[in-house]
Amino acid sequence: MVVIPPVDLTEQFKAIQADVNAAVAEVLASGQYINGPVVQSFAESFGQYVGTDHCVVCNSGTDALYLALRALNLGPGDEVITSPFTFIATAETISAVGATPVFVDIDLATFNLDITKIEAAISDRTRAIMPVHLFGRPVDMGPILDVATRYDLVVIEDCAQATGAEWQGRQVGSLGHVGCFSFFPTKNLGGCGDGGAVTTNDEALAATMAMLREHGSRVKYHHEAIGVNSRLDSVQAAILAIKLRYLDQWNQQRQRVAQRYQELLSTLGEVVLPQEANFGKAVWNQYTLRLPSATAAGQERNQVQQLMRDMGVLCMVYYPLPLHLQPVYGHLGYQPGAFPAAEVAAHQVLSLPMFPELGADQQARVVEALKQALVGAGVRATQYC
Ligand SMILES: *Cc1c(COP(=O)(O)O)cnc(C)c1O
Repeated sequence: MVVIPPVDLTEQFKAIQADVNAAVAEVLASGQYINGPVVQSFAESFGQYVGTDHCVVCNSGTDALYLALRALNLGPGDEVITSPFTFIATAETISAVGATPVFVDIDLATFNLDITKIEAAISDRTRAIMPVHLFGRPVDMGPILDVATRYDLVVIEDCAQATGAEWQGRQVGSLGHVGCFSFFPTKNLGGCGDGGAVTTNDEALAATMAMLREHGSRVKYHHEAIGVNSRLDSVQAAILAIKLRYLDQWNQQRQRVAQRYQELLSTLGEVVLPQEANFGKAVWNQYTLRLPSATAAGQERNQVQQLMRDMGVLCMVYYPLPLHLQPVYGHLGYQPGAFPAAEVAAHQVLSLPMFPELGADQQARVVEALKQALVGAGVRATQYC
């Protein structure tokens, strides 16, 4: 049985193998493995792509968030509003700088922050809002920028899953005060290892992030702050520079894959399909649907996932436990029921295989497996088959 994986990085590599091998060989021969010219040139290209004046590259998306929070002087006593339905790094970095994540429920239709609930979560300690463009779908930034202006808050965009996504024709990462990107291999622009970047139009902020990234140093061996070592390797920069040229094409292929799923699944009443963003462009890092009948423990969804795995179709669950209920955040005192939409999502979501090279025949197999699994899990009556 040929397995359909959730994401297949090997197909993409084959398409650019010759270019990548040559670029990596060139870096290896140059001896400039750290902060070589290729790193600076990739940072400039990526900043241009996003449409900001400045781009500071670093070692991961997690570090990008950390550097942004540190450079904005967020720390103990400060609150940052964010989503409970995201990867841990979003909240983890808020905690890492000593600030407190304050969660706001999501909108089940988009899995993104429920913009109508943000204002009620603002206190006199709130300093920032950190929206996450989850699964490649842009957050509707208008109301967020608006509330941020009214309360004098900074906006830090977590763009890790949305490189290339647009809100009203503008790239995510250029809308708030700072945008944070990940080049983890499975992201829309992924390297062959870890990597990340921050984008901003604020020159001083960019300089501070670059300083913190280099052990708190602007001038070699002069240290003005406790920083970190978070550089992007030259080898990764060389690979990412090649991949950046294909990003729009790959995102278009993802959109075609998503469109095909929408068509193939449109008559399936047992699942709720992800919505297109009507105010922007989604880049489908994930194609995530929902099983509205799945109950509080999510057994039906888990059974559907298992039955599909038995048929050679590997689906993922992002994310099975919202952040406010994670053991690490027990001290924040959130109880089950605090964020009903995030909790429902955690029990009901299923991400189908999604990558630019996913073929129509493979997608037909995914859909067939899903239909059979829905019957097997008792979610769908047999006679519909
Ligand atoms: C991947 C991811 C990160 C962290 O990126 P890394 O490069 O893995 O450190 C942060 N936020 C979100 C939403 C992510 O998906």
